[in-house]
Amino acid sequence: MTGAIKLMGKNSLKEDWLGDRIDTYYDKEVRAHWRKPKTLISPSMAWSECPREIQIRLLGYQPRFSPQTRRRMDNGTLVHHRWEGVFEDMGIVIMEEKFMAGADIGGTPDNVIARLAEKPIAPENMFLLEIKSINTNGWRKLPWVTAKDGKYRGAAFAPTNMAALTKAQPRHITQWLAYDRLLAENGHDIGQGFIFYECKDNQNYGYFFVVRDDPLFEKLSENSYTALEWNRKGDLLGLPFPRTSNQCKWCDCQNVCFRLASGDERLDEKLASRLKSVARPGTLKR
Ligand code: SF4
Repeated sequence: MTGAIKLMGKNSLKEDWLGDRIDTYYDKEVRAHWRKPKTLISPSMAWSECPREIQIRLLGYQPRFSPQTRRRMDNGTLVHHRWEGVFEDMGIVIMEEKFMAGADIGGTPDNVIARLAEKPIAPENMFLLEIKSINTNGWRKLPWVTAKDGKYRGAAFAPTNMAALTKAQPRHITQWLAYDRLLAENGHDIGQGFIFYECKDNQNYGYFFVVRDDPLFEKLSENSYTALEWNRKGDLLGLPFPRTSNQCKWCDCQNVCFRLASGDERLDEKLASRLKSVARPGTLKR
């Protein structure tokens, strides 16, 4: 080893540069920013206790997440890809991820899978799949009916107790129901399927057999339709909760929401121009 290389090695050992570089990378990755506004409800954001939050998100606001949350979300995306690869290898995928637009909803459902390799496939053999990763704490709160020998199921292949699953994971049920509606509007009348979970901490898997439930969807998606309705009117909803409420305390859009309510002129102008761009005449299909 030459003297110069020895010296370089010593200098690089003195400086902890890697962590700083990773932090700088993630600081940029997780920054709050504005994306193009959406004109359709996104199934993954179709449930929230606050319609104003959904409206701000539809208008393109992407809140700041912590770097750790970002990495967790990225892992969730990879879990999706892994299971989709498994189902593909099993030969049961009949519809891969594909963006679809409906009257009021737009998004990319996970796979549609088939029970039998028949052609044409009978409707009772088609299932819409929604894949989720969840931590042990969330996993324990899921309403498993059987959890024997590592086989976790929401029911013995009969419709899950949707009310119990909705209580544990309203966002996931709303998302599945929204995709089912979106598929139906695009000519794929599925109406049944699975919300499929993998535990992030030990890679156990389990699933709930779910079915179309229009009244439940109306109830769960009410706030997202309200948000879309106000966007189409070109107006911003007021604050449905007091600033000191629990909803506001944990809300990812709090920064934008409170600044608008306090009369931040620059932000107000930004929102006004975005509202103008998404305003549409007519009513919602619902
Ligand atoms: S801060 Fe409160 S009122 Fe504002 S969007 Fe969030 S939950 Fe809704």
